[in-house]
Amino acid sequence: MTMDKHTVLRRYFGHDTFRPGQEALIDAVLSGRDALGVMPTGGGKSMCYQVPALLLPGVTLVISPLISLMKDQVAALRASGVGAVFLNSSMTTDEFFDACRGIDLGLYKLIYVAPERLGSERFLGLLRTQAVSLAAVDEAHCISQWGQDFRPSYLRIPEFLEKLPSRPVVAAFTATATAEVRRDIVELLGLRDPAVTVTGFDRPNLFFDVTKTKEKLPALLDLLAERQGKSGIVYCATRANVEKVCAELNAQGIPATRYHAGLTDEERRQNQEDFQFDRKTVMVATNAFGMGIDKSNVGFVIHYNMPKSLEAYYQEAGRAGRDGEAADCILLWSDGDIQTARFLLEHSGEDNEEMTPEKQAMVRAQDRRRLDAMVGYCKTTGCLRAHILDYFGQEAPARCGNCGNCLMQYRQVDITREAQMVLSCVKRVRDKLGYYVGTALIVRVLRGSRDKRIKELELDGLSTYGLLRTVSRERVRQYIERLEAEGYLVTEAEHSTLRLTARAGEVLFRGRPVTLTLRAEEQPEPQPERRSRRDRAERPPRSRPAASAQTDGELMTALKFVRYQIAQEEGVPLYIIFSNATLADMAEKRPHTMDEFLEVSGVGQAKASRYGKAFLDAIEEYEEFHGE
Ligand code: ADP
Ligand code: ZN
Repeated sequence: MTMDKHTVLRRYFGHDTFRPGQEALIDAVLSGRDALGVMPTGGGKSMCYQVPALLLPGVTLVISPLISLMKDQVAALRASGVGAVFLNSSMTTDEFFDACRGIDLGLYKLIYVAPERLGSERFLGLLRTQAVSLAAVDEAHCISQWGQDFRPSYLRIPEFLEKLPSRPVVAAFTATATAEVRRDIVELLGLRDPAVTVTGFDRPNLFFDVTKTKEKLPALLDLLAERQGKSGIVYCATRANVEKVCAELNAQGIPATRYHAGLTDEERRQNQEDFQFDRKTVMVATNAFGMGIDKSNVGFVIHYNMPKSLEAYYQEAGRAGRDGEAADCILLWSDGDIQTARFLLEHSGEDNEEMTPEKQAMVRAQDRRRLDAMVGYCKTTGCLRAHILDYFGQEAPARCGNCGNCLMQYRQVDITREAQMVLSCVKRVRDKLGYYVGTALIVRVLRGSRDKRIKELELDGLSTYGLLRTVSRERVRQYIERLEAEGYLVTEAEHSTLRLTARAGEVLFRGRPVTLTLRAEEQPEPQPERRSRRDRAERPPRSRPAASAQTDGELMTALKFVRYQIAQEEGVPLYIIFSNATLADMAEKRPHTMDEFLEVSGVGQAKASRYGKAFLDAIEEYEEFHGE
């Protein structure tokens, strides 16, 4: 009886239907055509070569870099009644010899082999006696230098295939999305007119949402409050954030545990188990957490920081909802995340001597594109799912109806800074004139109006004059309405004057967040310039030229110069003073006091007392110069 692919699927693997993409790849291979399958991990790639292996004459060679995976698959195949064997470096000589004899006897339909083995004459000799119908290359992106998983031994696969009596059909599989890597796979593996199928990236039960906020902790607490009792993961970019967030959640009575590379093995194991067995419902972790954990009832994955690529994001977010139940993937981001990511990217591998400068530049350009795509995801107003699927090269409808952007007609915009400007302006006008004025005048001062009355009252000399110059009158009025609604401002009935309430200080001095709800298609106004913390807290705000990545870059340069000078004086390498990451955090936090300086990550007591003053002075000087 001749079998067909459906019979094989059912008889050996117990599945009734193929998943999307599997059939196309299997058909291509069975018809003798090379193939490239791009599917996410768990998408069902192995079926694409295991089914043909059972239908084609001769043997199928599976080239795989992961020894543990090889073992598992061979065990599973054997359990399904399929003859399979693996050859890798973990075997004893006896085991290896046995395997070779079995191959020689033609006992196996599938032979799993590590790429390093391909160079062995012995192995090649063995295969000369076998008809190899199909060579399946798993984790095919390992052939590309673009990726992090480059394995030189992969480059020797084509040479090996040439040495076989006749070239088998070659099928390559990967979960990697980028076009460069796919091109490399086709070219370097020497695939001939391959059938390319990209599929299986969609996870319909996952709800995606993106929120821009600087006040992450309150935002996170709100999200967790809505998801009480559900199990979920909060991913943070740094160990320090993990510690901070986890401590805060515990302080709020949320049963959270944590995971990062700085913990002992024992602690990690314990915490992972607490989460796995639902003794703790929330896991706060760096990206070190997740590999190899298989918890199916994760109801949400919240990112506290923006990851550096959509690949990383989707992999981490994808740990939600493995059980097929509805689950949420929510990303909290801020401009600071983007700045940090860009900075780290530009300064990563700076002193890496293993890579040639060309290779470094190449990798960095690639990383830059990945980061841009991640930022694009944060900022898109279109369907988030469509954005992801499009990035992974999969066809998708323009709207999914199950993501924040598709569902929400309204969205929240953080206007804390603008609110502070408004409140500060009301206060300053009152201080100047000795009485409160109406909304219209406040709006005009904020927008830098050249009105005669403003001149007469000398309100154009106020530090808040013109702070919201770039914002429409209507929008400034919206801010004021919002502040009234929140009880920070009140319109006094008799004279229609706008007054501060006792609560205004919460926003003005303590930065309590204020949000504005905008219709989905409305764009927020261009952002007014950012001010330092000191401006917000103590000093009257003064307008300054637009702050941008460029001026922030200038501060970084200034800080690096200080570091350079100190290093010269002390005759030590730069990193001994402070790492680039520390300088970046310093540029971000802009400390003005020793206490604030100690808050910068990577600054301890000793270094603070030794170097603090020099850096604080540099920041002060920078801000003077930029009129802050
Ligand atoms: P990958 O190699 O892409 O990471 P696997 O091939 O290991 O993924 O498949 C992941 C899971 O999906 C396995 O448990 C497998 O049994 C299952 N699977 C694969 N194909 C099908 C199918 N057509 N129907 C149902 N389950 C499938
Ligand atoms: Zn959508």
